[in-house]
Order: sequence, then C-alpha cells, then structure tokens
Amino acid sequence: MSVKVTREEALNYHKGPNPGKVAISTTTKLITQRDLSLAYSPGVAYPCEEIKKDPELAYDYTSKRNLVAVISNGTAVLGLGDIGALASKPVMEGKAVLFKKFAAVDSFDIEIDATDVDKFCEAVKAISPTFGGINLEDIKAPECFDIEKRLIEELNIPVMHDDQHGTAIITTAALMNASEMMNKKAEDMKVVVVGAGASAIACSTMYKEFGVKNLIMCDSKGVIHKGRTDLNKYKKAFMAETAMTVEEAFTDADMVLGLSRPGTFTKEHISLMSEEPIVFALANPTPELFPEEVKEVKPKAIVGTGRSDFPNQVNNVLGFPFIFRGALDVQTRKINMTMKMAAAKAIANLAKEPLSDDLKKEFGDLTFGREYIIPVPFDKRLFVEVSSAVANAAVQTGVARIKEFDLETYKNKLSK
Ligand code: NAP
Ligand code: MG
Repeated sequence: MSVKVTREEALNYHKGPNPGKVAISTTTKLITQRDLSLAYSPGVAYPCEEIKKDPELAYDYTSKRNLVAVISNGTAVLGLGDIGALASKPVMEGKAVLFKKFAAVDSFDIEIDATDVDKFCEAVKAISPTFGGINLEDIKAPECFDIEKRLIEELNIPVMHDDQHGTAIITTAALMNASEMMNKKAEDMKVVVVGAGASAIACSTMYKEFGVKNLIMCDSKGVIHKGRTDLNKYKKAFMAETAMTVEEAFTDADMVLGLSRPGTFTKEHISLMSEEPIVFALANPTPELFPEEVKEVKPKAIVGTGRSDFPNQVNNVLGFPFIFRGALDVQTRKINMTMKMAAAKAIANLAKEPLSDDLKKEFGDLTFGREYIIPVPFDKRLFVEVSSAVANAAVQTGVARIKEFDLETYKNKLSK
C-alpha cells in the first residue's frame, strides 16, 4: 500500500510544533530533593565508582543496555547521494523513530562531518562507550566496507551497516522462500547480481553463505571477471573465471538481484532467463524494471521491489529494529553470520504463517505464494520471532555477554 505525500506536507511534518522527530524522555522520577540527590550528586557517584571497577556494570546502571547510535557521514543518503552530514539528519532521526516504534530500542542520531575513513572511525570509536550497539547508515561504498570492518574489529559492541546487512538479511529471506517455492536448491541456481556497491556486495556474500555457487556480478562496466584490471578488492571476491557479456550472464539464469539504478536491465534480459525466474529489482524509488514489464515476458516470475505499492517489498525495517533488539538483550559483542542467517530464516518462516486479522483488514488475505514471499513491515510477530532468533544465535555462537538465557522465557517476555 503506497500513500502519496506532498513536499509541503512532509516539510510541515518535520517542522512542528517541535522541529525534528525525536526528543529525550526520562526513565526515573525527579520530583523531590531526595530524587535529585539520587539522580545527580552525590548519589550518582556510586554507579560511577562501580562502573570504574567493572565496566560491564554500565549495562546495569546506564542506558547503554538499550541504546543504539545511528551514525552517518551523509555520503550516500537514500537516492540523494552525497548530501553531507547535516542534511542526512532527517533520515537518521527517522531511523531512530523506527527503532523506537518497532522494537522499543532507544537511539541517538549522530551525524559526523568526516569522509576520511580514519577520521570517521576515530570519531565513532571515541563515542562508542555510550552505546550498546552501532547502526552505521548511508555511508558510500567502498569506504563503508573499510569503516565497518575496522569498527567491528576494534569495538566490543555490535556494529552493523544496515544498507549492507539489513538488505542482505531481507533478500536472503526472500531467496529462501522463492527458491523453496520454485523447488530449486540454492546450490543449483544461477544468480545474476546487477550492482556491485554496498548492498550488492553484502547480499552476494550472504547468498554464497546460503549456498549459491553460481553467482555472476555486474557493475556499470559489465560482468565482473578475472580479465578486468579496474576492480577494488570487494568486487574481486566475485570475479567470474571468464569474460562474458551481460546477456550471457542472464541466459538461463534462475534469479536476478538488482541493486543498481533504473534501467540497468530490460525485458530483453529477463526473456533470456529460465521460465519461472526470481526477479528482484530493488533500485529505489524507481526499480531497474517494473514488475508488469517482467510479467509481460515471464508471467510466472516471482518479482520483488523496494516499494510498498507492489507485492514482495524488500524493506529493511523488517530487519534492523529486531536484529538490534535481540543483540542488545543478550549484550552481544558482534553481529555474526549465524545471527544474520537466523534473522533471515525467522523472517522467511513468518511469511508462511497466516496473517493476523488486523493485517488482513489492511492487506487482504495474503497467503504464502508468488505474490507474498516476505512478511509486511507491520507484522507485529517480527518483533518476537526475529529478535529471539538473533538473541539465541548470539548465545549459541558465544558472542553474548549474558550467560543465563532461555529461549522460551525470552520469547514470552517479548510477547507481553
Ligand atoms: P551503490 O553502493 O552506489 O551501488 C550501486 C551499484 O550500481 C554500483 O556498483 C554501480 O556500478 C552499479 N551500477 C550502476 N550502473 C550500472 C549498470 N548499468 N549495470 C550494472 N550495475 C550498475 O548503491 P547501494 O547502496 O548498493 O544501492 C543500490 C540501489 O539499491 C539503490 O537504488 C538503493 O536505493 C537500492 N537499495 C534498495 C534496498 C531495499 O529495497 N531495501 C536496500 C538497499 C539498496 P559501479 O561500481 O561500476 O559504479
Ligand atoms: Mg540507508
């Protein structure tokens, strides 16, 4: 369901009565002189001393336990490009709202005026003690890969660049369900990825982890192969053995994942694919190719886009709020591949469950099938299912600080 808004409506929404979309609220009462002595001097010195002795106690005595930083330098904002740190603030505030509304995660939006990788990482590291997790956002490739890698290595709280891994998790959930529906095994599929930027590299890495062996990646210069001398190290990880044309890549392919820009593949490319292809055209807001164009040449295709006005919307809000919910609740140090795969599986499984009555009223009686392979963002069960899958995977893989963890107890707690 897509709702059109005008520029004026959107500007007014952001303008008032309090400019922006977030504010701070307090969690303790401050009414009496005694409350003041507890909240601030002299009482506040005691938790300070405890944390000095044992830094882990910050999770017990401060907001760190439920606090994520949404951090950008504004170099790749939505489809707007490099608009700078300050102009990215409405997007980061918006992300903070989604964190809160979907998963009760508190967050600060932080816009850092630094495009240099070293400078940016130093700034993030310096403020990291405040937070239980870091969501990197809208940072351009290839710097985003170096930045994320460095921060993951050097910090002991979870760091995730959502444009990469949020997208990878949702598109992997979609691949899980679409391949099952088509009766195809990942290892037998030929997958073409159009785009070789932030999201495409992360999605392709996760697809390989899921079992895809035959994956051909294309950038603006064509297929990425061993004969090319212009590739960065991230693209090099996906080089095809031999040179081929984009048309050859599409021939008999079972799936195409578009993460590029409008018009990078056409009906002619789709017509070269297998009879019932999976076509994800995720360029936003205008997809590489519109669903009706895909269906003209391959009526049985499973089609997904990034948009809410077509079936099968790949929307990152299905993932990041719950990934951080689970990660924070077990105080994890990392977000690893097992956790990401568990999130994808939980999302995929939910699409097979009947819709709640509330959702039926809004979306009709969607049932698992070609037009419904990914849950809708307002499916409240995502909160319990995805968060608990992520928390459990963190505990199982030994990256959680929490020692006592019972999956059913945790799910019950989230369900309340
Ligand atoms: P990015 O880092 O800028 O990557 C864009 C990639 O597209 C680059 O690798 C570029 O090639 C490639 N490209 C450009 N023209 C091409 C062509 N003719 N053929 C093949 N590849 C071409 O951007 P991103 O952050 O990954 O996002 C890409 C798109 O996906 C955007 O439209 C974004 O909005 C969308 N997206 C959607 C979702 C979602 O639906 N949930 C999530 C993430 C991203 P070069 O490397 O040669 O420049
Ligand atoms: Mg983003």
